[in-house]
Amino acid sequence: MNRVADVIRDDIKVMTAYQVADLPEGFIKLDAMECPHHPFAGYESLLSEWADLAKQAPIHLYPHTAKSGIYEELREVFGIPDKAEIALGNGSDELIQFLTMLVAKPNTRVLGIEPSFVMYRHNAALYGMEYVGVPLNPDFSLNLPAVLTAIEQHQPSLIFIAYPNNPTGVCFKREEVEAVIRVATGIVVVDEAYGAFHHDSFLPWVGEVENLVVMRTISKIGFAGLRMGYAAASPSIMGELAKILPPYNMNQLSLAAAKFSLKHHQVIQQNIDTLKNERSRVMNELLKLNRLEVFPSEANFITVRVPDANGLFETLKQNRILIKKLYGSHPLLDQCVRITIGSAVQNDAVLAVIKNLYPNL
Ligand SMILES: *Cc1c(COP(=O)(O)O)cnc(C)c1O
Repeated sequence: MNRVADVIRDDIKVMTAYQVADLPEGFIKLDAMECPHHPFAGYESLLSEWADLAKQAPIHLYPHTAKSGIYEELREVFGIPDKAEIALGNGSDELIQFLTMLVAKPNTRVLGIEPSFVMYRHNAALYGMEYVGVPLNPDFSLNLPAVLTAIEQHQPSLIFIAYPNNPTGVCFKREEVEAVIRVATGIVVVDEAYGAFHHDSFLPWVGEVENLVVMRTISKIGFAGLRMGYAAASPSIMGELAKILPPYNMNQLSLAAAKFSLKHHQVIQQNIDTLKNERSRVMNELLKLNRLEVFPSEANFITVRVPDANGLFETLKQNRILIKKLYGSHPLLDQCVRITIGSAVQNDAVLAVIKNLYPNL
């Protein structure tokens, strides 16, 4: 008999592994909200300082995250209140995992909205929790009455709200998220993975509101390869989370690199501003095409409903451009695709294909 297959959980055996895109050389990659270039491209002195840092990093020693100076740097750059404590994750993906583990008692629930970031549901399943997904309105705004009813009915231990939301790009109204936080009896995680591209944040509230966690990542602002996310929340949550986070989950190289990057946040901010300008430009171009339904975006991507999502996806691929086809992943995402904002040249390439395929009738 096959003993390995016998011991592995049946629910995991029927899952499929996350497919990381494997692209031929020269493809334009606009599927995963990565920054289109190295964050310090063109800054020669920063790049050489960066190389020195790698040489000096004490990779023979276990990292001491608290003593590395990274928390102070994060507090300063992001304005994290003194009352809040910070936890770092190997990507915020890891923090989603540990926040779920923290509350995973038998017969408890995680609440999310649908469609949203797939990892919320995935981790709920991994830790044996029931996942309650409340559908968005067709325009991807929050169906607040439905969310509040679901909270009352299911008393979720954990609520995830991506603010702005992925994969839709739409950001919910602040008052709506405030209402959710007020009504929730469990922990509310406001996932601000795209916070840098939006003008609002719940960070000023952390520490003040006991059940609020704000989660951010440096992945979408140029450092997806460093794998660093952070959560800020009250000591009542963070003190417990500290007990289950692996003590050495961050590595010396990414700590050193992240610290260095945060010190040069003006460069990062310039990259963000450039991407935001590109977002407006791409948005305006897309809005001129009357066969598309373009959703407003506060993130570094734009979600669009097109006449034929499969056709667009394949045509872009033939033109060596990869985007994300959302169509098929949720009924509300009918014929939708998600396009990451890239460099001006990359965006022009995408726009050219789209204009050619869907000229105004
Ligand atoms: C990309 C993304 C994350 C994960 O970011 P990492 O820090 O790279 O793990 C978390 N939440 C949302 C909503 C995202 O889109």
